[in-house]
Amino acid sequence: MLGVKKEAIETHHADGWIGPAPHIVTNLPGPNATAFIARDHAYSSPSYTRDVPLVVKRGAGSVIEDVDGNRFLDFAAGIAVCSTGHCHPKVVAAIENQTRNLIHICGSDFYYPPMVDVMEKLANLAPGPAKKRVFLTNSGTEAVEAAIKLARFHSNRKWIISFYGAFHGRTMGALSLTCSKVRQKEKFGPLVPMVTHAPYGEIDFIENQLFKRQVSPHEVAAIFVEAVQGEGGYILPPPNFLADLRALCDRHGILLVCDEIQSGCGRTGKWFAFEHYGIIPDIITVAKGIASGMPLGALIAREDIMDWPPGAQGSTFGGNPVCCAAAMATLELVETHFMSNAATLGPKLVKSLESICAERRAVGNPRGLGLMCAIDVMSRKSGKPDAKHRDKIIRGAFDRGLVLLPCGDYSIRFCPPLCINETQLEVGLRLFDETLASLA
Ligand code: PLP
Repeated sequence: MLGVKKEAIETHHADGWIGPAPHIVTNLPGPNATAFIARDHAYSSPSYTRDVPLVVKRGAGSVIEDVDGNRFLDFAAGIAVCSTGHCHPKVVAAIENQTRNLIHICGSDFYYPPMVDVMEKLANLAPGPAKKRVFLTNSGTEAVEAAIKLARFHSNRKWIISFYGAFHGRTMGALSLTCSKVRQKEKFGPLVPMVTHAPYGEIDFIENQLFKRQVSPHEVAAIFVEAVQGEGGYILPPPNFLADLRALCDRHGILLVCDEIQSGCGRTGKWFAFEHYGIIPDIITVAKGIASGMPLGALIAREDIMDWPPGAQGSTFGGNPVCCAAAMATLELVETHFMSNAATLGPKLVKSLESICAERRAVGNPRGLGLMCAIDVMSRKSGKPDAKHRDKIIRGAFDRGLVLLPCGDYSIRFCPPLCINETQLEVGLRLFDETLASLA
């Protein structure tokens, strides 16, 4: 891994070559970035969490360039969104072409080809013999919102169960299921009633505690689960957890909803992370990676479940033609190239993280599926989880030209674009390792 030439990476932008990365030419933030950040701070909502002072001008593949000409390797992909990399020429062409023909007409009221294409594609790639139907949204949280409504409508039951550590979004329904950080909920209540939570991975708790003491299983509409918990810390489920959850839902007539908003669209080397665990959910939510950064989410459900009548659910923008055109280009690229790239490079990424963790005291618990990987950060003295040191590592990596994001309470996630190549992965990991060495 070590010894890869630092400036070995050349990346092409839709408009041409943007140059090698990493390539750091100013102190960070540079003068232009500093000016933008000052303007941002004057007007932006203080609720945004910016971990590093990165002001992006453009991106190509797995490389981003800031407004001062510094170039970074992107191991965050806009929170696991830029599945095909930044500005893939085929995605750009699809968007350009669509904007010349039709930007908006409202799919709740009329028909248009890109919307039909996306619904047909998503319905057909969702596994299982039963026919599926699709409802399109603008975001992940709206897909979850729609799933809550569909689960209640179809089952005529009210209760929903989700898990500690879960992140399902920030609108009031999805937020009621989210159970990740108290800051996300503080003072926003009352939230949607008849929602309760169980520890992720503990099937017995649901059967022996919730169903005995809090809610009859006959009143539970759905259980929402992330096959791999995302914001909660890139937590893989215990081996039989999802299969046991499927069986529990079947026993009690409860709908199983897999939230694949972060883990779906090829990120783990399969279309959906739940496919690694041999289950088929009743309802799937997707968003993030499906349109390479254009806002699109989807609810995919078995036809017999999606039984709400005209007018029960709709959206002005959901399934916008430009987003759908981007999605069709994205899904084709993921299907033909990038899902297999994630499947090939994922084990290499985990192996490299394992060898880094074996060398460096501050990091441990390397884990992941495909290009959805993480490590925990510990205090070098006490060996206890250390969020502050985690933040220092993220900043140190940024100063070297590597963009990373935190997750969970004390973890760092590695979720690069699915188009990343092996050299880029190796260079990024070397920058990460150098950062750890410098902070040891
Ligand atoms: N569900 C999961 C698993 C997520 O990771 C996220 C976002 O991080 C959401 C839902 C919410 O998606 P959005 O931010 O597009 O509303």
